[in-house]
Order: sequence, then structure tokens, then C-alpha cells
Amino acid sequence: MKVLVVGSGGREHALCWAIAKSANCEKLYAAPGNAGIAGIADCVPIGAEDLGGLVDFAKSEGIDFVVVGPEMPLVAGLVDRLEGAGIKAFGPSAAAAVIEGSKAFMKDFCGKYDIPTADYARFDEPDAAKEYIHRHHAPLVVKADGLAAGKGVILCHNDLEAFAAIDHILTERAFGEAGDEVVIEEFLVGEEASFFALVDGTTALPLMSAQDHKAAYDGDTGPNTGGMGAYLPAPMVDAKMSKIVMDRIISPTIDGMAAEGRPFKGVLYAGLMMTDDGPKLLEYNARFGDPECQPLMTMLKSDALEALLACAEGRLAEIKLAWHKGSALIVVMATEGYPGYYEKGSEIRGLGEAAGDNDDVVVFHAGTRLADGRIVADGGRVLGVTARAATPAKAQEKAYAAVDRIDWPQGFYRRDIGWRAIAPD
Ligand code: AMP
Repeated sequence: MKVLVVGSGGREHALCWAIAKSANCEKLYAAPGNAGIAGIADCVPIGAEDLGGLVDFAKSEGIDFVVVGPEMPLVAGLVDRLEGAGIKAFGPSAAAAVIEGSKAFMKDFCGKYDIPTADYARFDEPDAAKEYIHRHHAPLVVKADGLAAGKGVILCHNDLEAFAAIDHILTERAFGEAGDEVVIEEFLVGEEASFFALVDGTTALPLMSAQDHKAAYDGDTGPNTGGMGAYLPAPMVDAKMSKIVMDRIISPTIDGMAAEGRPFKGVLYAGLMMTDDGPKLLEYNARFGDPECQPLMTMLKSDALEALLACAEGRLAEIKLAWHKGSALIVVMATEGYPGYYEKGSEIRGLGEAAGDNDDVVVFHAGTRLADGRIVADGGRVLGVTARAATPAKAQEKAYAAVDRIDWPQGFYRRDIGWRAIAPD
């Protein structure tokens, strides 16, 4: 079949890499893709936000199946438009993607279906929000309701920070319409994990769980980023915990979304806080995590295209997934300056030397571009060096050995990815 992957990040490179291996994939396209994806798929210059352009391309090219990577086109209704044109797609409808697109929806939904999450209140008016802070006091978490490119969550350690967060979102309108409303949450304490499940509307199939590193620098310091690394499995999500998460969080969500007339199809990504009272839902995402998708795809032994297609066709109950044993870990290499200002266009060498021969080390591209046959940096997060091994420590060693072979003076990365999973000697 002809498959189109929408997006241009490391996540989409990993999806293309996994889909390209399927015997059922005759032709693979990516829109818009990147320099790494160009090695395994035909990249077409259509942006992930150009819904009309993507639907027109899929129709004219006779695409059989579209896999949507990022959240923006999902929330904007790309899957609805593709299905309306008779094209199968992996990902939720706009009505279901609201579980990521609106934190207020997600919190009210959790209340209605008894899904464990932080206590909260919603406000669209600054004085009422501040009055609430006067009564409840920090630490609190203030969140913009809508999609704010990962920046809409403000952890407030004292009341003044919480007042400032309210002003920032509701008065200064820092996130535009995404900040029409705020959610103020109880501050939860614990270790975090990312739980992924494929969902076909009624059946959910858990994938491996991951932990990520959001902070820019070693020791989890510095500004928050899209993610500087991740590893899986998450040590604390063992089989017993996975069942608890499925029973208390994922299954009631699938049933609740169906009952709301918003059946969820695609990948449901639950950001969890493992508290003393058990796992609590921090947020839902309606797509794979980036960078977690990259190690996930390298650990998956089964045919990824078949699993994603079964999801879209409501046949997930037929699927049993096989996984490689051990651990996988990804080190993200970013352009110096990220997540602040950075220059584009620096050349990256040594990528051939870094890659392994048997899929145990894969360098996924994110912000890269081909310029006169050279690979140059074209974004903040640029490469994801992913290694698979018997233990987290071995995966870490392999990943950093590959990173060391990459010649890119303008890049930086963290040296401590995976520290939580690696017991000290
Ligand atoms: P979110 O996008 O809602 O997952 O929030 C981003 C990050 O903020 C999470 O990964 C947590 O580290 C932190 N966070 C969000 N909500 C809370 C909360 N209620 N308590 C403590 N930390 C939180």
C-alpha cells in the first residue's frame, strides 16, 4: 500500500523507519519530512498544518493510509478531512483530540469518569483565579487551556509566582487564544512516566512505558525543552503497575470517550505522576511522544504498519505485539542556544560512522536539511541517537559512543540521559 506520514520531526523519522520495513508498504511518502526521512521516503513540500494541501495530495497520489505525527493537524481535524475523502488515517478525530487540545476538557472528563488526576479549578477571569490562589495557596500549577507548544504549564512555588502566571496567561495573553482559560491544579509530587496505548475506539493495547528528560542540561537543570532524551521501559511501570494504569486510567478513558460520542482512535499518551496514592494523570496527548517514539519503534519487533492500520480499522483485538528484550535510550542532540535563539545551517558530519549495522543504534533526524549534498542543522532539536541493548546502562553506553562519533561542533546534548534507570555501581 501507499503510505503518507505527516510531520518533520524525529518522531516521524522513527515512524517512517518502522513503516518502511513492512512488507505491506510499497511506497512511502512524508510531508514535509527531513533530511533523514528523505533517505527512506519521498518527501513532499507540504506543511503539517496545510490540511487542504495534505488531503489534495493524498487524493491525487492515491494514498491508502495516512499516519499523522504531530498534534496540531489532529486537533485541527486532519483525520476527519482524510476520512471524509475516503482515505484511512491513523490518529484521532478533532472531537477526540480535544483530550490533548483542551486541558479544561480533560480535567472535567476525568472528574466525570472518576479518573485519578490532580484537584483543579478553571477560570477565564483573573480576579476569580487570584481569589482561588488566596484561598488555596502555592505550590500550585497554572496551565493555559489550549495547545501552547509545551510552554503553557507554569509550576508556581509561591503565591506571587501563581499571580504572575495568571497575569501572563489571562491578562498579557502570552499564549493568545490557547490562554482564554486557565486550569489551576494541585501540585503533585512523585516520579513521572509516559504511558502509551494504541486505541481503536474500543480496544486498547498498551505499549512500553517511557521516562523522558525535559530540562536542557545535565542534572535536570536549565530551561524546559521539547525533550532532550528518553528511555524505556520506565522501571516503575512493571506488569502490575501497567495493569493498574490500564484499569484506573486508560480503560475508563476509552469507555468515557466513546460514551461522549468522541471515540478515540490512535495513540493515547498518558503523562503520569506516580504519587503515594497511586498513578495520577497529569495530561493526555493524542499522539506519540517525541522523543519517546524513537526508542519505542526500535524496540517494536512486530510490523508497525500492520498495528497502526489495525488501529485505524478497529481490528486491534486481533493484534499481539512482540518487543525486543532489554532497554532502549535516546540522546537528543540540539543546536547550541536551544531552547532559546539558535543559528541554522551548521554542517553535521560523521552520521554514517555513528549508525549501527543491525538496528541497535539508529540516528533519527529531526531538524535537518540537505544543502548541496551536505546535512545541515535546520532546527532546535536536530538528531536523536537511539540505542537498544540488554540493560539501560549498556544502551546508554552504546548511545553515547555513537554520539561521540558525530562531528557537529555547534551541537550540544546531555551526558546523563537515563540516570534514573541506571543503578549506581
Ligand atoms: P503537562 O504538559 O500538563 O504534562 O505538564 C508539563 C510538566 O509539568 C509535567 O511533565 C510535570 O513535570 C509538570 N506538571 C504538570 N502538572 C503538574 C501537577 N499537577 N503537579 C506537579 N507537576 C505538574
